[in-house]
Amino acid sequence: MTSTKKRLTLTFDNGPDAQATSQVLEELARRRLKATFFVLGKNMAEPSLRAIAERVHAEGHWIGNHTFTHEVPLGDRTDPGAAQAEIGATQKLIGDLTHPDKLFRPFGNGGHLDNRLLNAECQEYLVSGGYTCVLWNSIPRDWEDVDGWVDRALGHLDELKWTVVVLHDLATGAIDNLGRFLDVVAERDIEIVQEFPDDCVVIKAGQSNLDSVLAKRVGR
Ligand SMILES: [Zn+2]
Repeated sequence: MTSTKKRLTLTFDNGPDAQATSQVLEELARRRLKATFFVLGKNMAEPSLRAIAERVHAEGHWIGNHTFTHEVPLGDRTDPGAAQAEIGATQKLIGDLTHPDKLFRPFGNGGHLDNRLLNAECQEYLVSGGYTCVLWNSIPRDWEDVDGWVDRALGHLDELKWTVVVLHDLATGAIDNLGRFLDVVAERDIEIVQEFPDDCVVIKAGQSNLDSVLAKRVGR
């Protein structure tokens, strides 16, 4: 990295949603920003919601896989076949909307960054399938604090050189504050990029760095 400017990567999880995703797309388009949307398989199985994902892709954003059901963290699944049911089935529904690096983000159940994220079967599935597993370093908890998340996210930007923020394109009302957040970011010397920093990528196109990345991030 030649620039010393702070960076911010925007990610939106758990969609697509009939209203919230369009609202995010409008805010991003107005500011010519690109982001990544980590979608759920159960949503992509709905034709009307997949159509929204097609618009996300057409507007230059990246689509990643965020499990099918989003119910039990994959590190807690002991039933064989979870990898195929949660990751494989979702990837099939994403189909040609996929990013070439097959972006995947595990369900973190509020942000836990440890071996609860992926069981051995899922790790092996991602590695052998050539996936890229993307984590985060900022969870401003927009789903439970639909106004207060903005200040929390701005605090993370103060602390970090390169922030990967997790927001949710869901009908919570949190997205009503996205414009306000992006306006403050625009006033600061922060570059919004679509890429991810290495310390948030635990598997890169099938090459696993999971243990070393998680070891460096203990306590974060
Ligand atoms: Zn999620």
